[in-house]
Amino acid sequence: MSFLKEINRRRTFGIISHPDAGKTTLTEKLLLFGGAIQEAGAVKSNKIKKGATSDFMEIERQRGISVATSVLAFEYNGIKINILDTPGHKDFAEDTFRTLTAVDSVIVVIDVAKGVEEQTEKLVEVCRMRNIPMIVFINKMDREGKDAFDLLDEIEQKLGLKVVPLSFPIGMGYDFKGIYNIWEKNINLFSGDNRKDIEETIEISDLSSPELNKLVGEKAANTLREEIELVDGIYPHFNKEDYLNGKQQPVFFGSALNNFGVRELLDCFVDIAPKPRSKNSEERLVKPEEDQFSGFVFKIHANMDPNHRNRLAFIKIVSGEFKRNTPYLHVRLNKKMKFSSPNAFFAEKKEIVDISYPGDIVGLQDTGSFKIGDTLTEGEILNYKGVPSFSPEHFRYINNADPMKAKQLYKGIDQLMDEGVAQLFTLDLNGRKVIGTVGALQYEVIQYRLEHEYGAKCTYENLNVHKACWVETNDKKSTEFKEFLRVKQRFLAKDKQNQLVFLADSMFSLQMTQQKYPNITFHMTSEFE
Ligand code: GDP
Repeated sequence: MSFLKEINRRRTFGIISHPDAGKTTLTEKLLLFGGAIQEAGAVKSNKIKKGATSDFMEIERQRGISVATSVLAFEYNGIKINILDTPGHKDFAEDTFRTLTAVDSVIVVIDVAKGVEEQTEKLVEVCRMRNIPMIVFINKMDREGKDAFDLLDEIEQKLGLKVVPLSFPIGMGYDFKGIYNIWEKNINLFSGDNRKDIEETIEISDLSSPELNKLVGEKAANTLREEIELVDGIYPHFNKEDYLNGKQQPVFFGSALNNFGVRELLDCFVDIAPKPRSKNSEERLVKPEEDQFSGFVFKIHANMDPNHRNRLAFIKIVSGEFKRNTPYLHVRLNKKMKFSSPNAFFAEKKEIVDISYPGDIVGLQDTGSFKIGDTLTEGEILNYKGVPSFSPEHFRYINNADPMKAKQLYKGIDQLMDEGVAQLFTLDLNGRKVIGTVGALQYEVIQYRLEHEYGAKCTYENLNVHKACWVETNDKKSTEFKEFLRVKQRFLAKDKQNQLVFLADSMFSLQMTQQKYPNITFHMTSEFE
């Protein structure tokens, strides 16, 4: 198959949702359609169970699973689909944000009863800011939930989306009769007897046909006719360009558990979802069809077994072909590297591959050369943008608890930060080290891993910081900036890239500081134009 054909047939996406909305179940059903797995239950949830936050075994189990489900690939109707796993647990939100830099589109799963939940809101906001094309799947229609129109309103308001229903439910919960597929103009009946089977589809070219009354009963048929008329009147029609530009979001209804409405979603997805897209680097826009290979690291996974302390760096291929045993330039280190056993991912396994294409993810064995955001090329100096750090939510001093093991501790911290487990800040005033994380769980992961992988011990000490803000000024010599450095010295630190960071102890002090120094900009992420 030609290079261009390989690119055009790839769809690389992520599924985002609040925990429990049905992401794992939907993933599994998609894999079943692709024939990639034979039975339900094959996809392991990477969820951390409630109340298990201090259980190290749980953390380890979770990590084990997360490498297995990091990338799930399968073929469907000649299309190569790569699903990138996005942890739903809020403590791992940073992982998810980074993974979103490697997807070309997303599917958002929403629970019909719970509506828009907190994590969905945060993740959708990130996608919206980057104009990532999104399809919404409203799940659990077999249960009593919110009225479809109310829910669509809620999605528009809370998520700031412009929805276009491409399917519509006929009833709900106990009265759920099926789904009218607006996209294909047919009906799928959800019948009591074969709820677990893949549904049969009935073509309905005209909703006014009496056939509909026979299928779902007169009352439900009339309601559907009214509702579809309303949908027609209220919502814009589907426009592929608008979807691809993030200006409108198609919506499907279904029940992942019952494998209902999933095929419709998948068929539409492979039809409209974008093939690998161009990506901005600091230097220029890079197109997938360029013949020179380039890609970037969006995730690093460490092996927790101390005897095999290798890591797997996940590279998204942006352009060209990635070939095994070919020297590529590690741009940050300015070093040529060859990879003898790049892994490609399939539904349940990974395998060594000779060649991979834009849109694909390869896993490279790494002994510490990579960090998140690194770029590989055939020689060109490119630095891919878009793997920013966000301000952590929690901050603690990290102290060495075993003076004999200082070297191990610093090496461990260094490597864990490269993996993106947390962020390190070094205080200007006294050189003390502060670890910033999205969730409290990471502190336990770090402590555990430092001990088991590096033989080092640490303790933490609380530190009252509200947000870390990356500081920007146009004039480092201005009196204003000099005064800021002097007055706020206690609150200043450097991140791992040696960028200046202001550790604000409250929202109020951040506002006051901003007022007092109007020519300094405080950013909530490490990357800014
Ligand atoms: P995740 O946290 O988003 O990955 O959610 P899961 O896929 O693990 O689903 C959470 C729970 O919801 C599980 O108990 C599923 O069996 C259940 N579930 C998923 N889809 C449906 C559905 O369509 N209907 C019903 N009734 N339950 C569902």
